[in-house]
Amino acid sequence: MKAVTWQGVHDMRVTEVPDPVLQEPTDAIIKITSTGLCGSDLHLYETLAPFMEAGDVVGHEPMGIVEEVGPAVTSLRPGDRVVVPFNVSCGSCWMCERQLYSQCETTQNHEHGTGASFFGYSKLYGQVPGGQAEYLRVPFADFLPVKVPHEHADDRFLFLSDVLPTAWQGVQYADVPDGGTLLVLGAGPIGDMAARMGVRQGYRVISVDRVPERLARVEAFGAETVHLDEAEQAGGVGDAVRDLTGGRGPDSVIDAVGMEAHGSPGASLVQKVTGMLPDAVAEPMIKKAGIDRLAALHSAVDAVRRGGTISISGVYGGAADPMPMMQLFDKQVQVRMGQANVRRWTDELLAMLVEDDPFGVDAFATHHLRLDEAPNAYEHFQKKEEGMVKVVFQP
Ligand code: NAD
Ligand code: ZN
Ligand code: ZN
Repeated sequence: MKAVTWQGVHDMRVTEVPDPVLQEPTDAIIKITSTGLCGSDLHLYETLAPFMEAGDVVGHEPMGIVEEVGPAVTSLRPGDRVVVPFNVSCGSCWMCERQLYSQCETTQNHEHGTGASFFGYSKLYGQVPGGQAEYLRVPFADFLPVKVPHEHADDRFLFLSDVLPTAWQGVQYADVPDGGTLLVLGAGPIGDMAARMGVRQGYRVISVDRVPERLARVEAFGAETVHLDEAEQAGGVGDAVRDLTGGRGPDSVIDAVGMEAHGSPGASLVQKVTGMLPDAVAEPMIKKAGIDRLAALHSAVDAVRRGGTISISGVYGGAADPMPMMQLFDKQVQVRMGQANVRRWTDELLAMLVEDDPFGVDAFATHHLRLDEAPNAYEHFQKKEEGMVKVVFQP
């Protein structure tokens, strides 16, 4: 089959790889009909390169039609339409019983000290073949895949794989008081969706980014916007947002940017250099060093009101990142974060999508492309060119 494979820094290619086969009686094989490109894939493109191997199949936002199921699978049949959560979680371990699916103890990666495996996401997360491919092997098929109706085009349900649950968890963790103000840093797919959800919850939402067409999308949904570069020139995001909130700052902040934030030139260089080093040198370096670009997270700490909450959806990966502890402590800030526990939220989100489209998912993708077009799509998405906000590949 054809699949998008990682071949090196800034080098994703569509190559022929063996078709996946059933390996466990509880597996299913899915024929992929749509599969998303995510900001998380960009970390593999550059920063997390030392944890990738040439030929790794990437992608973690797939949906499609069940092609084949193992003999022990009872709740799925060939022909069922499913969306696959990005966490590989068993559904029955101690963590899964507590719905902490991104910490699944059956698929944790002890060798790297990391949580549950993900599809298509480096050795740090199990090196599981990913979903930007024609077919995908899905373990724990009685629990993991989300069965969806056959009505509607794929985009209605596709974002249950990642964007919707990640943004939803981000908003839940932000713990915004009724009628409160939510600042969302980043208007990529995750920040955009979190802003839409905040607006739908009745919060005042302020979104920050530097890409005009991304700001325009959230504005059309009812968020106020702040242009990052203008704010930086005028004294910083914190001041800009305090000006809009009577001097106090927003009740809650979602960081939907993560480790590749603009405005952190030193760390940007470190990321480029470690991406180029031999794996044996770079792997331990990344694990011990502060490789994150922290501009957005530092904005969050500065902007949030005293006693407010920061919810971090953006991915960070450093081990020695300097954090403003005095400010965090003195302002009495609560911080929550983590990979989304996707399956924790999919049933309630699916129920919202069956009859209606409250978050505008039908028109959320800016590009529908063939899998062959992946190499270009990665490049444009990373550079935020061509109005590219959310890409969906249709193998
Ligand atoms: P993206 O890269 O398209 O979006 C990031 C946005 O942040 C861009 O629009 C960029 O212009 C903006 N930005 C950069 N620096 C900024 C700054 N200093 N202040 C404000 N905005 C800034 O990616 P995405 O798909 O929206 O993902 C966002 C983050 O969420 C990534 O780190 C991704 O890995 C992470 N993510 C986490 C989970 C999870 O489970 N927690 C799931 C999916 C994605
Ligand atoms: Zn994703
Ligand atoms: Zn589990």
